[in-house]
Amino acid sequence: MNENKTFCEECRKDVEYLTEVAELKGKLKGAEYKYIGKRAICTECGSEVYVAEIEDENLKALYDAYYKEK
Ligand SMILES: [Zn+2]
Repeated sequence: MNENKTFCEECRKDVEYLTEVAELKGKLKGAEYKYIGKRAICTECGSEVYVAEIEDENLKALYDAYYKEK
């Protein structure tokens, strides 16, 4: 059962998406941190799509990376 749907700007419609684990980089307080996060990929065209919940998870992972460095 896959109810994961979001708007894909390439397809110009709501599509299902897959998530994959990815090494991402983010900036926090002027420094760049690498962290393990997730990417959402449109199942129809393979483009990366924006998913609010995944952005939230990635932000948490970025903060974890930030606090580990401290
Ligand atoms: Zn698409």
